[in-house]
Amino acid sequence: MRFPPLREELVGLAPYGAPQLDVPVTLNVNENPYPPSAAVVEDIAASVAAAAAGLNRYPDREFTELRVALAAYLSADSSHVVTPEQVWAANGSNEVMLHLLQAFGGPGRTALSFAPTYSMYPEYARDTGTAWVAGRREQDFALDPVHARDLVLEHRPSVVLLPSPNNPTGTALPLDVVAALCEAAAGPDIGGLVVVDEAYAEFRRAGTPSALELLPSLRNLVVTRTMSKAFAFAGARLGYFAAAPEIGDAVRVVRLPYHLSAVTQAAALAALRHADELLARVADLREERDALAAWLAEQGLEVAASDANFVLFGRYADRHAVWQGLLDRGVLIRETGPDGWLRVSVGTPAEMAAFRDALTDVGAAVMEETR
Ligand SMILES: *Cc1c(COP(=O)(O)O)cnc(C)c1O
Repeated sequence: MRFPPLREELVGLAPYGAPQLDVPVTLNVNENPYPPSAAVVEDIAASVAAAAAGLNRYPDREFTELRVALAAYLSADSSHVVTPEQVWAANGSNEVMLHLLQAFGGPGRTALSFAPTYSMYPEYARDTGTAWVAGRREQDFALDPVHARDLVLEHRPSVVLLPSPNNPTGTALPLDVVAALCEAAAGPDIGGLVVVDEAYAEFRRAGTPSALELLPSLRNLVVTRTMSKAFAFAGARLGYFAAAPEIGDAVRVVRLPYHLSAVTQAAALAALRHADELLARVADLREERDALAAWLAEQGLEVAASDANFVLFGRYADRHAVWQGLLDRGVLIRETGPDGWLRVSVGTPAEMAAFRDALTDVGAAVMEETR
């Protein structure tokens, strides 16, 4: 049996993904640690059962009801109304962003972001034949607006990807920086889109605004969100964006037909009816995050300021040894970010206590070794 050779740019590459290990404390993929309540589970199950009775038919290709519900949810988080015509959704915001690059990237075009950043972005670029350029962030992981603007003018990207809060650093972007980059990208012979990836927006600290505020004034701005993180709905796979309706029309051309199954639509609609309850633990998680950051700093570690549900900390001469030491003690975190740093997701109080104990223990072990 002979196969055609793999596309050259894919040879030797491993699929993306953090290890899915069966350990007592998993703090590696920024999930919400609180599962839906029995009442929410029951409503989701009833909604899915109702959808199941019609599974001989293709689903609503336009997921109209779901766009209405998502628009209402976003409107509540913004001082402007977001309309259903501005909303697009797909199987996770990963698919949403792939749609954007399929429609607006491609051969001869460039996608731009600023490192360290979400490790999936270069993969969307690769898979759509889009050139990839990564600028840098400052020592504190903020964006230098001058450097960022210069890079936009130099590379004339079709798509600028700006996570806010950023993963893996937790850094949120000030709106004036987003607006300035939108204006630079909209300039003559660039005409680029700016995608603000707000996967962690619901965890932002008081006073940190959402880029949704800028939507009415900036036609080339796309704000993406997900139900995977704060919404405690990662297993269902539902991400979405808000933007000018023409941007939705463009991604409709590249999406697969009926990409959102009737089951997904029913489950997401049911979850949105319980938004208040599903998001109820966000305040707890924020407090837990701030306590975690303070504790890590007390241990003499460097800690990146976080508006998300994770904290990046370091720096270790051998971060892999620390990651492994934690895993040996039943705590799985993420070995990601710049050299020497590690990322830990915010879990339940019991999980955070387990993490603190394990890290204290590992810290002592690491020091024993270097003595
Ligand atoms: C987790 C995450 C997402 C969300 O991915 P889904 O496909 O919606 O689960 C998007 N962007 C960033 C930066 C993330 O960390």
